[in-house]
Amino acid sequence: SVEKDKTNPVAKIKVVVRKRPLNRKEISKKEEDIVSIEPNSSCLTVHETKLKVDLTEYEERHGFVFDAVLDEDVSNDEVYRETVEPIVPTIFQRTKATCFAYGQTGSGKTYTMQPLPLKASQDILTMMNYKYRNQGFQLFVSFFEIYGGKLYDLLNERSKLCMREDGKQQVCIVGLQEYRVSSVDSIKELIERGNATRSTGTTGANEESSRSHAILQLVIKRSVDGSESKPARVIGKLSFIDLAGSERGADTTDNDKQTRIEGAEINKSLLALKECIRALDSDQGHIPFRGSKLTEVLRDSFVGDSHTVMISCISPNSGSCEHTLNTLRYADRVK
Ligand code: ADP
Ligand code: MG
Repeated sequence: SVEKDKTNPVAKIKVVVRKRPLNRKEISKKEEDIVSIEPNSSCLTVHETKLKVDLTEYEERHGFVFDAVLDEDVSNDEVYRETVEPIVPTIFQRTKATCFAYGQTGSGKTYTMQPLPLKASQDILTMMNYKYRNQGFQLFVSFFEIYGGKLYDLLNERSKLCMREDGKQQVCIVGLQEYRVSSVDSIKELIERGNATRSTGTTGANEESSRSHAILQLVIKRSVDGSESKPARVIGKLSFIDLAGSERGADTTDNDKQTRIEGAEINKSLLALKECIRALDSDQGHIPFRGSKLTEVLRDSFVGDSHTVMISCISPNSGSCEHTLNTLRYADRVK
């Protein structure tokens, strides 16, 4: 109801940090957990071990505060409740919403991101079947990736795609397959197919997927007069973006030329993304979409009445300290 919206408005930008548990390898290497979170708080501390000139160790503490901080025992269901669930109803109101997973490779981006579109579409379908019953709403799914600045359809054998603007600031990705879905099972199948296509890219394995941004979009359309026969118009869009490993942006000095080019592209897109989200928050009008393919693709999700959730994933082990601090500083700048 209107009353409820007033007392509990959905934030335009929400920045959440999620810490994963130490894994077996880290434990066997006797790595320490250097990230502490106060229970029921949104504060987090990184305990960095540094060396003095005489090589004795000392600890430097870095404190951060975010909209929410999710500890290692927080389930994927709780992550959904904290991040995406509140924005699902907004996409029936001509709103675009985007959820990002940011962080170094191995920090839990994919683990965090994969269940979210499934839970969201479950809620969307429930709303269509009850609250908005017989009102002509339809749900569509598409799934593609940006790799080296180029777009590939993950639901169509990784075919190459190109992007066009339609003059009304709507982004059109030519040839992108959109599947109409009416059950959670069929969405699950599509997501699994897309993920398989992603990870078996050119050389296979995680190595590849850490260099690409995977974008899954749930699009709500409505046929003009509620009839099934007329073409449907886009009402709202909810995008889930499993970003390239943030450490890949530093691959700009690698020996391999291709790796350097990809690293530069990732670096550019993550910087452009940060600038766009910051511009959104300041209402400054001009949003620097043109900075990268990623931000150009998301252009129509950043204009108007939009919502953005950034989930920053961090590894707790001492060996990841520098990457963890980089991720937290990035998230801090977005907030
Ligand atoms: P990324 O996509 O950032 O490279 P992954 O999502 O693949 O990282 O996670 C790396 C590994 O850690 C996977 O084996 C995953 O199952 C595990 N993992 C990640 N986050 C969690 C978590 N919160 N709880 C338990 N295991 C996790
Ligand atoms: Mg991943």
